[in-house]
Amino acid sequence: MSYSQDKTIVIIGAGIAGISAALHTLDYNLKPILIDRNRHLGGRVRSFLANDIGQPLDNGQHILASAYKETRHLLKRIGSSDRVLFQERFEARFITGPGKEFQFRTYRLPSPLHFLLPLLKKKNVANIHWRDFWQIFNHSDLLGQDRFKDMTVEEWINITGQSQSMTELLWKPLALSILNTPIHTASAYLLYQAISRSFLGPYKMSGMGIPLDWLSEIFSGPAERYLKDHQAEIRLLTPVNKIIRQNDQVFRVVTPGETFTSKWIISCLPPYALHTLLESCVLPDLNSLKKNLARFEYNPIMTVNIFLDKPLPGNFPASLVASPIQWIFCHPSTDLSQHQYGYALVSSASNAYSESSREEVLEMVQAELERMFQIDFHNTYRILAYKIIKEKRATISQSPEALEIRPGPVTPVPKFILAGDWTDTGLPATIESAALSGRLAVKAVVEASQQP
Ligand SMILES: Cc1cc2nc3c(=O)[nH]c(=O)nc-3n(C[C@H](O)[C@H](O)[C@H](O)COP(=O)(O)OP(=O)(O)OC[C@H]3O[C@@H](n4cnc5c(N)ncnc54)[C@H](O)[C@@H]3O)c2cc1C
Repeated sequence: MSYSQDKTIVIIGAGIAGISAALHTLDYNLKPILIDRNRHLGGRVRSFLANDIGQPLDNGQHILASAYKETRHLLKRIGSSDRVLFQERFEARFITGPGKEFQFRTYRLPSPLHFLLPLLKKKNVANIHWRDFWQIFNHSDLLGQDRFKDMTVEEWINITGQSQSMTELLWKPLALSILNTPIHTASAYLLYQAISRSFLGPYKMSGMGIPLDWLSEIFSGPAERYLKDHQAEIRLLTPVNKIIRQNDQVFRVVTPGETFTSKWIISCLPPYALHTLLESCVLPDLNSLKKNLARFEYNPIMTVNIFLDKPLPGNFPASLVASPIQWIFCHPSTDLSQHQYGYALVSSASNAYSESSREEVLEMVQAELERMFQIDFHNTYRILAYKIIKEKRATISQSPEALEIRPGPVTPVPKFILAGDWTDTGLPATIESAALSGRLAVKAVVEASQQP
């Protein structure tokens, strides 16, 4: 079957970038055709039923930030705002070592006092000194300067003389949580772009956004309903195999069952998927893009979902400092009436566990819980179920080299536009970057259409 309409825009990939692009096309009276090879919208933000443990699960714990403006706008539009708890100010428990912990909450004060003062109050338990505060205060803006664009976080730490304790408490966890990249490869500039919007912004922007429901109930389900209600076309289980530039006017987008004809294409694919697609297309103007796509590297994220017969001590979310597990979150499925306590344990840039067996990972998790919480896990807790999810290509590796090759929305092929978390949005490759990239892509379409 062939499908053609003058005002249509084909959007390939229905992750957050594709959803965002589709929503924004509606604002300009254009008709999006959103195509994805998966069964559902959402891409890397999705839930599924884990049959082996009889539980719905997310493909990995996702945390938003109060400073995620684009994402909050998207959530509001599809009616999901109330399914994410956006903290009014950052609050979490930090476990810094066996039996050592503190609760941290930013103050209602101008930046950076809102986070430096409460940190100062905890300086003994966090093992930090006056000098460390001065080093942050004095040098944090350096991170964002253009001349530091080719620097890693580790290089910045060395140049500015950040202390060992501050590195363990702040810089290593921030690079892992925000960039999913260890400090020796993480881009200092990109880290600054994220923290300047949250920690160095007003205190109200410092909080986390914690999902209160399964990701598909927050993003893909409501987005699909909204888009269908607004006459968007959605094609799922529809891999795009080929794009043919028919003449200077239109593209043909080839899938196994249908061919779509459109003047515009917005690709919302990750670099590796776009590279594969371009391999089967004759679009010589994109050769240099193709070369760069092959240069991206990726980091995994491992989420250990564990269901216990008793609660772990204390409140959550909790950050574990200098541990292979960086965060523990309560699961949306925790069912107190069933005495079932679910937790998601997150290990970012988890390359060290890529080849580990389930048993080895579980062993590490139990040892860490015993060590950090000072509990006799083996003799006190019963594991009701567990499931380890390793997402191999969770995000691109957010290094200075990757920063250099992230392309903007406009490509050398007219009317072939790019979006996706990895494109050059000025933000780390996150949900927020994906949502923003969708808007920037549609803006590029509209601007180009208005040119004579
Ligand atoms: C485990 C994990 C934890 C994460 N944690 C966080 C977090 O806490 N906070 C945060 O902000 N971000 C987090 N991220 C990153 C976040 O998920 C991504 O930045 C975001 O989802 C990327 O969206 P996207 O639309 O750019 O790409 P994707 O979600 O990858 O969407 C691309 C889509 O293209 C489709 N596709 C591929 N090839 C084809 C083809 N040939 N034809 C048709 N369709 C195709 C895919 O099926 C997919 O749906 C995490 C990611 C993972 C995996």
